[in-house]
Amino acid sequence: MTTIEENIYNLKLKLPSDVRLVAVSKTKPAGDIIEAYNTGQRYFGENRVQELLNKKDLLPEDIEWHLIGHLQSNKVKYIVPFIAMIQSIDTYKLLVTVNSEALKINRIVDCLLQIHIAIEETKFGFLMSELCENLQSCDISGLKNIRICGVMGMATFTSDTNKVKKEFGYLRNCFQSLKDCYFKSESYFKEISMGMSGDYELAVQEGSTMVRIGSLIFGER
Ligand SMILES: *Cc1c(COP(=O)(O)O)cnc(C)c1O
Repeated sequence: MTTIEENIYNLKLKLPSDVRLVAVSKTKPAGDIIEAYNTGQRYFGENRVQELLNKKDLLPEDIEWHLIGHLQSNKVKYIVPFIAMIQSIDTYKLLVTVNSEALKINRIVDCLLQIHIAIEETKFGFLMSELCENLQSCDISGLKNIRICGVMGMATFTSDTNKVKKEFGYLRNCFQSLKDCYFKSESYFKEISMGMSGDYELAVQEGSTMVRIGSLIFGER
């Protein structure tokens, strides 16, 4: 077994079977992705559109690509034809753009709402107050070519596990209020994407359904 294969096996042993592993392959070459693919891994995450476009043509078609990084509206059209999930929806405008590009090619694109949970860091994402305002005042049910499947968040990068736990707990609460207020009858609104190499165990304890792990699989970047 190669190191990458071994890393994936070890990680899967630790993850509950109902938590999905998204292997974050940003900055890593196609050959590394194939090694992961050979273990049966099919979900891969990239954070830059151009890099994703360059790699995907070199790789098997049954890979499910997740976009996890900040997405500019003018790049949406390049990924909408093939992307399995856009995890980093951070404005209402972006949601509308994804919907209209998806409509053009008659596709329905799965999305997650990225929520700003790291108190001390300026990271992309909705503030919960702003998100609820959007959901109240805009007719998202009119956006027929997207499916909002849940939420995504990144905790503060710190060794303070209490703080990280709190932030993940906050994201879980956000998920629950959104579910109760706006997505009660949408069975597909069920994902809480949280947890990276350094904090995935805490994220799983706090109810993560999907972890996004890069360096623990592919090594440091
Ligand atoms: C890079 C990245 C990850 C993975 O980070 P690691 O610490 O390497 O596991 C997860 N989520 C997002 C949004 C990222 O940009």
